Amino acid sequence: MITIQGKTVCAGVAFGPIFVFSREESTVKRSHVESSEDEIARFEAARAQAKDELGSLYEKAIKEVGEANAMIFEIHQMMLDDLDYIESIKNIIADQLLNAETAVAQTCDNFVAMFEAMDDAYMRERSADVKDVSERVIKILSGTGGGGINSDDPVIIVADDLAPSETVQFDKEKILAFVTEGGSSSSHTSILARMMNIPALIGAKGILLKEYDGKQAIVDGFTGTIYIDPDEETSAKMAEKLRRAEEQKKMLQQLKGVPSVTKDGQHIEICANIGNVLDIGTVLANDAEGIGLFRSEFLYLESTDYPSEDVQFGAYKEILSKMVNKRVIVRTLDIGADKQVDYFNMPKEENPAMGIRAIRICLQRPEIFKTQLRALFRASVFGKLAIMFPMIASEWEIIKVLEIVDEVKKELDSEGIAYSKNIELGCMIETPAAALISDILSKHLDFFSIGTNDLTQYTLAADRQNPDIGDFCDTHHIAILRSINMVVRNAHKNGTWVGICGELGADLELTETFLAIGVDELSVTPSAVLPIRKKVLETDVSQIKDKVLSKFLN
Ligand code: PEP
Ligand code: MG
Repeated sequence: MITIQGKTVCAGVAFGPIFVFSREESTVKRSHVESSEDEIARFEAARAQAKDELGSLYEKAIKEVGEANAMIFEIHQMMLDDLDYIESIKNIIADQLLNAETAVAQTCDNFVAMFEAMDDAYMRERSADVKDVSERVIKILSGTGGGGINSDDPVIIVADDLAPSETVQFDKEKILAFVTEGGSSSSHTSILARMMNIPALIGAKGILLKEYDGKQAIVDGFTGTIYIDPDEETSAKMAEKLRRAEEQKKMLQQLKGVPSVTKDGQHIEICANIGNVLDIGTVLANDAEGIGLFRSEFLYLESTDYPSEDVQFGAYKEILSKMVNKRVIVRTLDIGADKQVDYFNMPKEENPAMGIRAIRICLQRPEIFKTQLRALFRASVFGKLAIMFPMIASEWEIIKVLEIVDEVKKELDSEGIAYSKNIELGCMIETPAAALISDILSKHLDFFSIGTNDLTQYTLAADRQNPDIGDFCDTHHIAILRSINMVVRNAHKNGTWVGICGELGADLELTETFLAIGVDELSVTPSAVLPIRKKVLETDVSQIKDKVLSKFLN
């Protein structure tokens, strides 16, 4: 038995064979053909099949990840209709009597070189699309296509990390668990795993060996361990763990529809965090009371260019409509730091986590910000929208943001475009400065949402991306709990409500503490909603309050 330790991003236990996902590029065999006409016909058939495949992927992606993320497949389809591209391939076949695979590969190389030499960053990035599209045609021609999971049975997917275009190709029914060598808890794989509520591990160093392909394994998403070729004792232990987890899940189902109220009548709203439209299914299945954080930057991250106002409008409208009048808090784009987007062309920074990110980009480039705000305001008539702004550190930033919001409203008014007059506005509290001036900020805003991931990083000066920081990054640190308490006290004085949307919100060891402090809302990964509700129902705040607060307050 081989044991590999990773880090849990989604709990649970899965038994099954390993499928090592590799993205080897197909090697093209160069050969001469007798009839260029037959070879051109073969190329045309492969081109048609590739377009069909992309069409199906587009339809599938629209349903699963929304229109903005699906667009890439439509762009790839259009590339396959590009006359220069087609003519170049046909000319190589006709003039040199070369096989179609070679003609596609040579054309691809020429186009890639041409794009890469361009000044415009957007055009340079198109080279990756040409490679992707050509690779698809070559795979069809050489019979090595298929993509997705090469197995009839469900598998544990092992990969370095996965791109969205790769994950949407997988048949979800066939995925038992994800284990990646790289990745972070906000990587696409992690988000997908949490949304599907299947066990997932990241940082499992040493897992990516071809020899593991097909071997039986057990993923323990509670401890972050994968056992390859497990022995009988481990299998029996894990089977028992799985049985208990299933029992617990069934029991939690009974809490659906039950209000999240403590024994002594204190209500706390339990909402869900999402990264895209795809996640709504699990949000509703877990009976979240709303969406406390939609990380809208994923619309930008999964796109090859700035998502237009209409594309964004489509995504926001879909989420608001699906949530049927439950509150949806959309956080405006939080690009920068670990979430880099090439087409933003941001200068390289020494300390990107403390650089031009999130609201700083929006204030420096208001045209990008306004496009997003227009899309949000237009979509607001389809549900209960709230908007929040990330990485606020000073009052002037909020004043400026609110001025821009007013400008957008005036523009929409003059264009006769309707929007809701009841949109709540709030900001993230994720810098120590924002926590310290929360009394001032709260005068301008309806709500705060505490981003404990960044608040911890900045308060403790401990990089959240660094897996080796260990004990220095203590998420239960008194400084964090005191900050949360101070923010709630300051906010409530001005009638501003406070939620927590960082990972700490889902920490069951702190649910009592958050209730004792008087936090109004917790927004967590969808599968954590019901376990927290259970804890809330079991708590009598009047009984624990003094003891819990005395742990971090004098
Ligand atoms: C946070 O910082 O806690 C947060 C919720 O935002 P993100 O993790 O997206 O930075
Ligand atoms: Mg943050």
